[in-house]
Amino acid sequence: MANFNIDSKKDRTYDAIVIGSGISGGWSAKELTEKGMKTLLLERGRNVEHIKDYPTTNMMPWEFAHRERMPKEVVDANPIASSCYNFKESSAHFFVKDDEHPYIQEKPFQWIRGYQVGGKSLLWARQTQRWSQFDFDGPARDQFAVEWPISYKELAPWYTHVERFAGITGNKDGLDTLPDGDFLKPHDLNCVEKYFKQQVARQYKDRHIIIGRAAHITDAKQIHFDQGRAACQHRTMCERGCPFGGYFSSNASTIPWALKTGNLTLRPDSVVHSLIYDEKLGKAVGVRVVDSLTKEMMEFYARIIFVNASALNTNLILLNSISTRFPNGLGNDNGLMGKYVAFHNYRATVSADYDGFLDSTTDGRRPNSGYIPRFRNVYKQETDFLRGYAAGFGANRVSYNDRSDMGEDLKAGLMETKYGGWHVGSHMMGETIPKESNFVALDGAEKDAYGMPKLRIHVAYDDNDEKMVKDYMEQMTEMYTQAGFTNIRTHDSHRIPGNDIHEMGGVRMGKDPKTSLLNKWNQLHNVKNVFVTDGAAMTSTSTQNPSLTYMAFSARSVDYAVKQMKAKNL
Ligand SMILES: Cc1cc2nc3c(=O)[nH]c(=O)nc-3n(C[C@H](O)[C@H](O)[C@H](O)COP(=O)(O)OP(=O)(O)OC[C@H]3O[C@@H](n4cnc5c(N)ncnc54)[C@H](O)[C@@H]3O)c2cc1C
Ligand code: SF4
Repeated sequence: MANFNIDSKKDRTYDAIVIGSGISGGWSAKELTEKGMKTLLLERGRNVEHIKDYPTTNMMPWEFAHRERMPKEVVDANPIASSCYNFKESSAHFFVKDDEHPYIQEKPFQWIRGYQVGGKSLLWARQTQRWSQFDFDGPARDQFAVEWPISYKELAPWYTHVERFAGITGNKDGLDTLPDGDFLKPHDLNCVEKYFKQQVARQYKDRHIIIGRAAHITDAKQIHFDQGRAACQHRTMCERGCPFGGYFSSNASTIPWALKTGNLTLRPDSVVHSLIYDEKLGKAVGVRVVDSLTKEMMEFYARIIFVNASALNTNLILLNSISTRFPNGLGNDNGLMGKYVAFHNYRATVSADYDGFLDSTTDGRRPNSGYIPRFRNVYKQETDFLRGYAAGFGANRVSYNDRSDMGEDLKAGLMETKYGGWHVGSHMMGETIPKESNFVALDGAEKDAYGMPKLRIHVAYDDNDEKMVKDYMEQMTEMYTQAGFTNIRTHDSHRIPGNDIHEMGGVRMGKDPKTSLLNKWNQLHNVKNVFVTDGAAMTSTSTQNPSLTYMAFSARSVDYAVKQMKAKNL
C-alpha cells in the first residue's frame, strides 16, 4: 500500500483518477497505467487481495456452521442481499448488508452491491456476450430512448482486446445476432442440451441453442500465466474468490496487472463524495473523498477522471457534484441525469422433464450452461411488445441416494447414486425499455454516514415487460413441446427490479448534448475530462449480460482520453 503524504497537494496529484475498483474501474486502471499514466484508484470498500483475502475459498461443506446456508436471522435482517442466489455462508462477506448502506425505495428495488476492492467482479456469474449491430440499432429503429452514438464495428476491436486478456470461453457459432469473440476452447453442451439444439434447429431458422460464453480460462495462454492465473479447475465455488484465477475478476487480473506497472496507487476505504469543478478552467480538477476509517474529508487531483462506481453509484456521485456552473449535477445541463434507468427482466422460468438418454448422465462441474440468443423482433417487429429476450438453458439428470434404511443398509444406500430422469430448465433475460419515469435522484433530506445524500430509486416494470414474460413462456413451451419434453412448468417469480443486478443508464451516451450526457467516447459532453464507462453510460440494455461491454467501453475510452491528453486537448 502506498504511503500517503496528504500534506502536500503535489503528493495528491495524479495524471488520472479512477473511482471504483470493480469490473469497469479495474479495466480503466489497467489501461491507464499501461499507457504510463500515474493513476489513483479510489475504492470505498476494504482491500481484498487476490487469494490472501478469500477466507472461504478452500473450505469444505462441513467446515461451515450451516453447511453454506444462511441462518434465518441473517436472511430476515437482509431481505435485499439475501434475495441474491449467491448470498451464502461462503460468500456473504463480499455483499453489502442491508443496514450498512441504506437507500430509499420509492418503488421496490433490490440493489445488490459489493463494496470492496474488486467490487462485484468477485461475485458475478461471468457470462460474457458481445452486442451485435441489432442491439445498437434498437433505440433508433424502435423509437425509444435516444440513438446510440457508436456502432458494433467501432467497439468490436475493443471486445477482442478485453477478451484476450480476461480469457473468455466460447464457441464460434457464426450468428449475426451474437458476434463471435476471441474465444478460448468452449465448454460442451451435454447430450440433452445437444438434442434440444437439434430439435430447435429443425423447427426454426432463427433460433439457436449454444454453449454459454463465459470469463473462464479453459486453456490458459501466456497472457493469463503472465497475470499469475491458471486454467479453471471446475470447482464451481467462484463466488468465494478463485485461488487459480480461473475466472476473471479485477482482483485476479486487472488490478495486480496495473500495480505491476508501478503507476497505480490503490486507495481502499476511500468514499468518493463528489468531483471538484473549477469554474475558471471549465473542467473537473479532482475529487473529494471521505476516508471511511477516519471520516476525514480530503481532496485528490488529476487531469482526467474515470467514474466507475457501478451504474447507480456513478449517478449518485455525479448528481452530488454540484457547483455554480452545474447546480443539478456535473455536466447535467439538460436535467436528464439519473433518468432513463433500465435493467433486465429475469422474471420467468420454464422447466420440464425428459425421458430420453436414460443411459447417459453428466460428470464433473461445468461452470457454465447453454444460452439462447435473442430471436424475437430481431429482423422485424413481430409481436405486440418491443424488443425481446435471450434465455439461459440447461439440462441435468436428477440423482439421489436411498436413505430409507438403517445401519449397514443405510451406508450402502448412501454409497450408491441412483438416477431419475432428465430435468431441463430455462430462464429469461429480457430487455427493458429505458423511460424517463424510471429514475434515480438524491434525497433532499436524508444523508448517509459519509454525508452523502441517500439515493432514491424509482424503477418499475411496465406493460411491455408483462407481455414479454407471457411471450417467453409461450415460446419456450412451444419449443419444449416440439422436443418431446413433458410436465412443462412455467413460472413468473415477479422478481423485483434490481435483482437481475444489471441496472444501467442515468448518464446515457448519445449524439446530442440536449438529449444525452456522454458522447461516443463516454466523455461528458459538458466536462470533457470526465469519463463514465460503467453501466450508467448505457443508452439501452439489450439482452446480453452487460459487463463485457463495460470492459470494452473502458478500454476504448481510456485509449481516446490518453491520446487527447497527449495532444494537449485535455
Ligand atoms: C451474483 C451476480 C451475478 C452476476 N452475473 C453477471 C454475469 O454473468 N455477467 C455480467 O455481465 N454481469 C453479471 N453481474 C453484474 C456484474 O457484476 C456488474 O455488471 C459489474 O460488476 C459492474 O461493474 P462496475 O465496475 O460497474 O461495478 P462494480 O463491479 O460493482 O464495482 C464498482 C465499485 O465501485 C465502488 N464504489 C461505489 N461507490 C463508490 C464511491 N462513492 N467511492 C469509491 N468507490 C465506490 C464499489 O465499492 C465497487 O467496488 C452479476 C452480479 C452479481 C452480483
Ligand atoms: S470453477 Fe473455475 S473459476 Fe470457479 S472457483 Fe473453480 S477453478 Fe475457480
